Amino acid sequence: MSQSLPLRVVVLGATGSIGTATLDVMSQAPDRFRLVGIAAHRNADALADIAKRHRPERVVIADEGQEGALADALAGTGIATAAGLAALTDLGAMPADIVVAAISGAAGLAPTLAAIRTGTRVAIANKECLVTAGSLVMAEAKRAGATILPVDSEHNAIFQVFEDNALDAIEEVILTASGGPFRTWDRAKMAAAGPEQALKHPNWSMGAKITIDSATLMNKGLELIEAYHLFPVRPDQLSVVVHPQSIVHGLVRYSDGSCLAQLGTPDMRTPIANCLNWPDRAPTRVKPLDLVEIGSLTFEAPDLDRFECLGLAMAALRRGEGAPTLLNAANEVAVFAFLEKRIGFLDIAACVERVLNSAERAHMVSEPKSLDDVAALDAYARRTAKEAISELARA
Ligand code: NAD
Ligand code: MG
Repeated sequence: MSQSLPLRVVVLGATGSIGTATLDVMSQAPDRFRLVGIAAHRNADALADIAKRHRPERVVIADEGQEGALADALAGTGIATAAGLAALTDLGAMPADIVVAAISGAAGLAPTLAAIRTGTRVAIANKECLVTAGSLVMAEAKRAGATILPVDSEHNAIFQVFEDNALDAIEEVILTASGGPFRTWDRAKMAAAGPEQALKHPNWSMGAKITIDSATLMNKGLELIEAYHLFPVRPDQLSVVVHPQSIVHGLVRYSDGSCLAQLGTPDMRTPIANCLNWPDRAPTRVKPLDLVEIGSLTFEAPDLDRFECLGLAMAALRRGEGAPTLLNAANEVAVFAFLEKRIGFLDIAACVERVLNSAERAHMVSEPKSLDDVAALDAYARRTAKEAISELARA
């Protein structure tokens, strides 16, 4: 289908790591892309700076307390400003050819769904919205005829090598994990690690939440659940291999013995460009891959004893129903408690495990059939996680 140029692009989460990389990719093809809408959480200055440079039609700040600051910063520009969750959701639904869903956390669900419901192309970086409500999100996409493209590097890699016409021949879908900053640390050292250590990712520069998830390997667990929703595979066909160089991003193994992989310099501008230009390709400023310079690529099994979050996420994927929603919400609360130094690094997994266990005891794990069900599970998990954190903080 040919669309008239420039393509209208909305970026939800424009001030973040993915948002910034998206604007960089777009800036290489100003005739092809036009930024029409942006949103962020509470940094009015950063959002206004982007608005002044790119002149979108609409700018939304989620935090209502920042509405005045945003309006003042953009006074006289003719750019419409608004604040709050309803405005954020409206922005997701504004007329656009591509919506980039790059808000972090379950907060991205409502505007992403609003975009999907318009039937447009939605490039999803916000993995938490697929983890918390994947079945509902994918059903809405099907109903509305929306095209979902994965920005997450592993899923984008798999998307590039996944042969839809050879489904019966697909045996395994493999996600690679860098292993994070604690790949070689023992448990005692991990127990004593604080945010300063956990925020030092060896290969990728990302927002705080996903960087902590990468240190616990919860990120890879969330990505298994994300992959389950994005691709027609069973949970037992999904696996993880640790690959510290982050050059091979994802693989699909076929029954004839072929294993197709996508490789590239670890830089999110590649998967973002793939989504923005799909089904075409266009140049980026990403450093070309030089395999001789890299020298060797290594692979190892993930250690589920030290990285319990990955095991918890695998169990939630197999358990199904409401378990991924509970896991995601409990993890968000635990990660923020860790960032605020209220709990230790290993307490993140302990908190998530307590929430999942108490949900089983309370029979709170049933399949969310509506967004209200998702919200109820999410609220239960956040409440229970806060109780668990108080206990863990006292211990
Ligand atoms: P970030 O923290 O750098 O940016 C998050 C963005 O979302 C910011 O613009 C922030 O203002 C906005 N935001 C946060 N909470 C919000 C709220 N309640 N309402 C409205 N806006 C809100 O995060 P990031 O690293 O860019 O990651 C964004 C998403 O992409 C996450 O879901 C992450 O898992 C996923 N992702 C990121 C990377 C990466 O390399 N950074 C890679 C793969 C997937
Ligand atoms: Mg990823």
